[in-house]
Amino acid sequence: MAKVNIPALKLNNGRDIPALGYGTWLGLNDKAEFDPTDVPKMVDALSYAIDIGYRHIDTAHLYRVEPEVGQVINRKIQEGVVKREELFVTTKVWHHYHREADVEVSVRASLRRLNLEYLDLVLMHWPMSISQDGVDEKIDYLETWRGFESVLQKGLVKAIGVSNFNVEQLKRLVANSKVVPASNQVEINLNLGQKELVDYCQANNIVVVAYSPFGTMVPSRNQPNSPEPKLNNPTLVTIGKKYGKTVTQVTLRYLYQRGIISIPKTVTRSRVLENASIFDFALDNDDVRTIAQFDNGYRTVVPAFWQDFTNYPFEKRPVKLEIPLALRRWKNGANLDIE
Ligand code: NDP
Repeated sequence: MAKVNIPALKLNNGRDIPALGYGTWLGLNDKAEFDPTDVPKMVDALSYAIDIGYRHIDTAHLYRVEPEVGQVINRKIQEGVVKREELFVTTKVWHHYHREADVEVSVRASLRRLNLEYLDLVLMHWPMSISQDGVDEKIDYLETWRGFESVLQKGLVKAIGVSNFNVEQLKRLVANSKVVPASNQVEINLNLGQKELVDYCQANNIVVVAYSPFGTMVPSRNQPNSPEPKLNNPTLVTIGKKYGKTVTQVTLRYLYQRGIISIPKTVTRSRVLENASIFDFALDNDDVRTIAQFDNGYRTVVPAFWQDFTNYPFEKRPVKLEIPLALRRWKNGANLDIE
């Protein structure tokens, strides 16, 4: 079986974090509902990922797959493929759980669903706090962060971090908290370079993790007006040919050379291998400069239905949208949690 060798970066708690992870968000379907059809494919692809050497797994309460992710992890431990301490498991606290005491409730529920004794990293998924009924709870993320500091102190998690925080929010958090976040997970890809945010994080020892690393490059995310590059972009194809690599590999390698960890999602075994086969070549400076020119600030993930909520982190758009029920109530709108 093929094997990949994924290097590690250091977190500010002194622990290693593998420089590439496996993302487990399967998305919502055309009706804006969670569709479990792809869950068995994800289980197969994640099993394969661990077999070939992936050690970093990114999940979240929102994704509804913590039970299945935990089953794969525990099976691979039982099979002797990997030890728990060799794995790096991240999950996230959803924005219904922003009261200080609720953070521990959420983390303990994730541990139960994953059937794990500790997490390597837990993130505040978004800076806003929104109830299941779509009410703006206006809870300051500084309060929520105290809940994160508490689960860290209790040993439920090895590191705590945030996600979708902009620079101002991160600076305010750092200035007013005991524990500096170990990581900020945000959208970064060739269109959205996030230079200011990345520079701030790297200067302050906060590891940057890129979600949606392919942006709108891949067909599932390709919008009618979305900008280049696509998978057939001639410039990137030419660069890839020079190194014997695909356009997606060039993309992930470029982010790695910026010191950024990517967590691409795929339910396709061949892509699991492809995405991690980026540590055996290096883009030269000319190619890095060329690729950097695709950065135009274009955002792929735009949850404009949250934009009027306190602490929404992105620029606002002139639209008014309803929050999809599946992002508020777990069972596609029913007011029930996942088991
Ligand atoms: P990605 O950029 O990872 O794109 C996923 C898509 O790319 C899928 O359609 C997949 O297809 C396709 N794909 C994957 N690899 C290849 C390849 N080598 N060649 C061609 N196509 C490929 O986007 P995501 O939005 O899924 O982000 C990745 C992860 O980041 C998520 O799974 C989640 O863990 C995290 N995330 C976090 C967010 C946050 O708010 N913190 C928000 C969004 C994501 P297929 O599966 O069919 O192979």
